[in-house]
Amino acid sequence: MKSEESALVLFSGGQDSTTCLFWAKKEFKEVRTVGFNYGQRHNYEVEVAKTIAKIADVPFELITIDILSKTIDNSLTNLAIEVQPKPENALPNTFVPGRNLILLTYASILARSFGIKHIVTGISQTDFSGYPDCREKFVKSAQKTINLALETDIEIHTPLMFKNKEVIWQLSDELGVFDLVRHNTLTCYNGIMADGCGKCPSCLLRNNGLTRYLKKREKLLRQKG
Ligand code: ZN
Repeated sequence: MKSEESALVLFSGGQDSTTCLFWAKKEFKEVRTVGFNYGQRHNYEVEVAKTIAKIADVPFELITIDILSKTIDNSLTNLAIEVQPKPENALPNTFVPGRNLILLTYASILARSFGIKHIVTGISQTDFSGYPDCREKFVKSAQKTINLALETDIEIHTPLMFKNKEVIWQLSDELGVFDLVRHNTLTCYNGIMADGCGKCPSCLLRNNGLTRYLKKREKLLRQKG
């Protein structure tokens, strides 16, 4: 049953957060979105997010945070550094230290001001590239700290936490937004919409999941006759 309450979705216009947005629309009576401009590789991302929010008919708030772009050793905020595949025993150079903690904190402050108790984020530890702030234990800990700090009762929902990309594609299909997610989102580190450049780590993950899901989908359709 749909909750009578409202939710705030952390929204970047990528595959995961777009799927989360439509998941939230199904689960909650009212949904708002918040996007962040933190000096990420492609500012275009914000425009994509705005467009999808309009299609989904939900308000979109943009928060600018410039501290993250000052962490100069990562390839997401420093264009001079090329995105590299994850080294075996180290974090990939797309890791932005502190990102999820800062974004969840800002989102919670905004949620509090709207009287919203539910936050939805696409954080997933399944394909998490080793990012420490994508783990469930981090989210649980952040929720606790944020509630202590803001005197709130906020619940952070992570519907994708244990889903791989194939299952996330399936979820978008079940939510009726498979085509929207496929054609209108931006996940590629090189800033190319939809199926992307096909070569960066983000595209590889997304497209491998898509290929697997399309096979599964075909099989399911055949079984249905
Ligand atoms: Zn790409």
